[in-house]
Amino acid sequence: MRLILMGPPGAGKGTQAKVIAAHYGIPAISTGDIFRANVAGRTQLGVEAQRYMDAGDYVPDEITNAMVRDRLGLDDAKPGFLLDGYPRTLAQVKELDGMLADYDITLDTVVSLTVDRDELVKRLLQRAEVEGRADDTEDVIRRRQELYAEQTSPLIDVYAERGMLLEIEGKGSVSSVTERIFDGLATLA
Ligand code: AMP
Repeated sequence: MRLILMGPPGAGKGTQAKVIAAHYGIPAISTGDIFRANVAGRTQLGVEAQRYMDAGDYVPDEITNAMVRDRLGLDDAKPGFLLDGYPRTLAQVKELDGMLADYDITLDTVVSLTVDRDELVKRLLQRAEVEGRADDTEDVIRRRQELYAEQTSPLIDVYAERGMLLEIEGKGSVSSVTERIFDGLATLA
């Protein structure tokens, strides 16, 4: 199974990604988590990424694309993978298309989690209290929402046009959303 999980910041992607990936026995590849691990480990990649992340901006495509290409080449991604937080720009879609062609594989589907704006801000502010993420301040949250609307939401149309989009309502408890996702994926099989 090869999946992309899309949705605005606060839609619950990370949580759902882990559950879905565990179910299929595939790695959940979160570009945000990889960047955060690099920031924490003070690697060269982390140093480069941190200033963009702190501002709520996207890390430049060249850096992000190279990181994903390496990650998809690892052995554990051979049986499948779930991409969480990538692609986020049209340029990344193009690059991902190239990687998939190079690895001679195709995606099964793109799951898009939809959640209304007020609910998103509420969840992000809650997460700020619980996790203490540096990029969960109000200004940065707003910036990330804007960027999502401008640069990432157009990707939904791209995948819809390719007939690959599975839209899932992201409202409600974690387990009810998980159930909706599994029901949706089952209809594809
Ligand atoms: P996330 O945990 O997915 O919300 O990502 C946290 C931050 O990491 C984002 O706000 C960006 O700064 C950076 N990031 C994660 N994925 C990408 C991506 N695909 N392209 C560019 N920047 C990214």
